[in-house]
Amino acid sequence: MFSSKQTPSFADSQERDTYAWFSQRAWVEIDLGALSYNVKQLVIFLSSRTQLMAVVKADAYGHGSVTVAKTVLEAGASCLGVATVPEGIQLREGGIKAPILILGATHTLEQIHAIAQWKLQPTLCSPKQALEVSNTLEAINYNSPIPVHIKLDTGMSRLGTNWQEAGDFVQLVQGLPHLDIASVYSHLATADSPDPAIMQQQHNRFEQAIAQIKARGIKIPSLHLANSAATLADPKLHYDMVRAGLAIYGLYPATHLENKIKLQPVLQLKARVTHVKTIAAGTGVSYGHQFIAPREMRIAVVGIGYADGVPRSLSNQMQVLLRGQRVHQIGTITMDQIMLDVSSIPDLQEGEIVTLLGEQGQEQISADDWANQLNTISWEILCAFKHRLPRVAVI
Ligand SMILES: *Cc1c(COP(=O)(O)O)cnc(C)c1O
Repeated sequence: MFSSKQTPSFADSQERDTYAWFSQRAWVEIDLGALSYNVKQLVIFLSSRTQLMAVVKADAYGHGSVTVAKTVLEAGASCLGVATVPEGIQLREGGIKAPILILGATHTLEQIHAIAQWKLQPTLCSPKQALEVSNTLEAINYNSPIPVHIKLDTGMSRLGTNWQEAGDFVQLVQGLPHLDIASVYSHLATADSPDPAIMQQQHNRFEQAIAQIKARGIKIPSLHLANSAATLADPKLHYDMVRAGLAIYGLYPATHLENKIKLQPVLQLKARVTHVKTIAAGTGVSYGHQFIAPREMRIAVVGIGYADGVPRSLSNQMQVLLRGQRVHQIGTITMDQIMLDVSSIPDLQEGEIVTLLGEQGQEQISADDWANQLNTISWEILCAFKHRLPRVAVI
């Protein structure tokens, strides 16, 4: 799905037409230069003892996992995090050799086999699961130990053994055949909040868990706690590694963290004008006639809709960029198409590029703008773009 092409110059439609992907009605453009820049910014921000894990779960937050993985590893990330075994296999099939941590829980025989076969690294969330993994590797006569990562729950109440039981849990895993403890980690629930109280409580609990493990004479090669927000919020949370997702894609987890480092958004969402026409005053537009033209209007149809991941709930509230100007989307967003009021651009041509997310000229619309309008978070906006949209890499 990925093709490597330079960004077309916006002003020059003839040049633009020569690109093979001109025929695309809509696509997600991925700026690998920005991705690489963000990773380097993070690496500079971290001390030399702290590694960067790039979190590339959910198809790299919708950016395309194999291409993203190659770029972030080249730019200085040490390893990768994914949510599921198939996501890990996809990276291996794409030629990625770096360590890959499965952040989700894995239980079944098939999953454990695949982990061994593809040299993935599982998260162990409980003594029961640790035994399952060890016993399965024993049953298949797996010869070398596999690196495993121990997950502690310090207050997220999601995966992991309660932090109070860290000592017993780690000791148990250490005694099991076929398992080699590569790290102990936990995950923060409120790192993006301006109020650090709960994060500090989780940090304290993590410290107490580490003390319990140390008291048993067990040495852990790597400790990690921070997501993007915690990475930006407080260097004390960096430990041996940070697990950054959102920040590598160039977005800030919260506005109060924007002054910490400079990031560039990686993803742009673009589509083409497929039809332009004039409608009379009083004409209804789209399903349900939720928009009635207040005057004679020039309208454009654009080949992108909710089946591509444009939220239908933005109907009649969305702006897009066209010729460096903001124009209004009108009427209900349909499955495959949207309509725009382009009365301000009388000579608009079919084939011109509309930017739904990204930059044109001085104007910019970000995933945060959509997230604010929809009362959600930018993470969800990025993950929503469907595979009908090709991911086009630009340098
Ligand atoms: C998704 C995830 C991350 C990355 O979170 P961001 O907020 O996108 O940086 C880190 N750790 C775990 C366990 C995750 O599930």
